[in-house]
Amino acid sequence: MRKIEADVAIIGGGIVGLSIAREMRKRNRKVVVLERGGMGEEASGLNGGGVRQQGRLLPEIPLALAAVEMWKTLDTELGRPTGYRRNGHLYLGESDADMDKLAKMREAEMKLGLESEIVEGKALKELAPALVDGLPGAKYCATDGSAIPLQASKAIGAAAVEAGAIVLENEEVVAVPLSNHKVCGIMSRNTFVEAPVVVNAAGPWAPFVGEKVGVYIPIYPSRSIMMMSAPFPIKVADPFVQTASMAMAVCQLPDGSVRMGAGAAANDIGRFTYSKEVRNPPFEQAKPRGKALEMFPVLKDVKIVRRWAGIRECTPDMMPIIGWASEKVESPEGFFIAAGFSGHGFCLGPVAGRLITEWLVDGKPSIDLSAFSHDRFLRPQGPLTVVEVRPEQTG
Ligand SMILES: Cc1cc2nc3c(=O)[nH]c(=O)nc-3n(C[C@H](O)[C@H](O)[C@H](O)COP(=O)(O)OP(=O)(O)OC[C@H]3O[C@@H](n4cnc5c(N)ncnc54)[C@H](O)[C@@H]3O)c2cc1C
Repeated sequence: MRKIEADVAIIGGGIVGLSIAREMRKRNRKVVVLERGGMGEEASGLNGGGVRQQGRLLPEIPLALAAVEMWKTLDTELGRPTGYRRNGHLYLGESDADMDKLAKMREAEMKLGLESEIVEGKALKELAPALVDGLPGAKYCATDGSAIPLQASKAIGAAAVEAGAIVLENEEVVAVPLSNHKVCGIMSRNTFVEAPVVVNAAGPWAPFVGEKVGVYIPIYPSRSIMMMSAPFPIKVADPFVQTASMAMAVCQLPDGSVRMGAGAAANDIGRFTYSKEVRNPPFEQAKPRGKALEMFPVLKDVKIVRRWAGIRECTPDMMPIIGWASEKVESPEGFFIAAGFSGHGFCLGPVAGRLITEWLVDGKPSIDLSAFSHDRFLRPQGPLTVVEVRPEQTG
């Protein structure tokens, strides 16, 4: 078995683990990532590519604002393209009740420094020319955007490696050895990474890693299905578009192709799975359906060229767990959790990497992360969470 010494050992090479590794190298720390598959090839490379601030749960807004600041210069920093564009984000209202909800969301977000506007009629049509007529309006955030998931995640990983991080692929962590209730590192079948700090960045699989050291981590998987069309000659919309009900996500790329998500179908209990199998209808017959087609009837003519599923990592309040594993459950010393981004981690990954590095190196992150503590799920009495859950703001 090969042995590598490090300051920090990271389990999971998704956008979160890779971003931490890159930031750690910027602070000259020895860092090793063990990834059981390929860099960024799970949710981090399979997601919808949305880099958005609006609609996030309110405690996440400061993080999302800082994340978007980072995305602005990320290509230059990485020396590689991530496909990031500031193409804006639209939340479509379908009823007066939706518009009311969007206006309230806007007001709450403005108090935290996020600007957006309500658009209607001609202004809305200019942003989304193929939109069905007759919608009452939308909420538009011009500073939101999108990127290309796999390209961006691999770019972050490559930049981390270039900066001196060791990222080993096809290395599944099978043990997190302890000594005197402290972590000693991580172990795959071939490699022992000796380190005083272990970061669990295993996404939806973080609970299994937690189990290895007796730490309960409430994260459950939720499968989401996406599809991509061939380049389509008609302009559908410039911004990334979702409905206020979160029943669809549509983003047209610069070459005309359209990336679509079906949203979280609340009645599909089959989505709580680690399986990425995509069934019915068969791939060749796949067509945009439901809300996407209702909002953009022109999509009936697109040719679907790819369909895939990815596994989201959801916590009970749909916010990440970031911090040392709680002492309340006698967690071992040195075990840090950075997982459960609940479908928001592509946008937040780079900034989470920076803040977690500040925490581990300086002892404190520059943005308060206490809302994301592991502790919040471990109260022996009283409510499990302190955050009001607003599913309409979490997709
Ligand atoms: C379909 C879909 C659409 C989404 N849309 C968006 C969006 O538009 N915007 C947005 O911000 N977010 C979106 N998300 C969420 C986003 O993709 C995730 O929040 C983010 O990728 C989480 O990153 P991660 O690094 O924590 O996890 P992951 O990318 O899941 O990475 C975890 C890694 O850990 C590895 N691993 C697990 N166990 C072990 C082990 N024992 N040993 C070694 N390695 C291990 C896995 O192989 C994996 O590579 C979407 C997700 C999906 C699935």
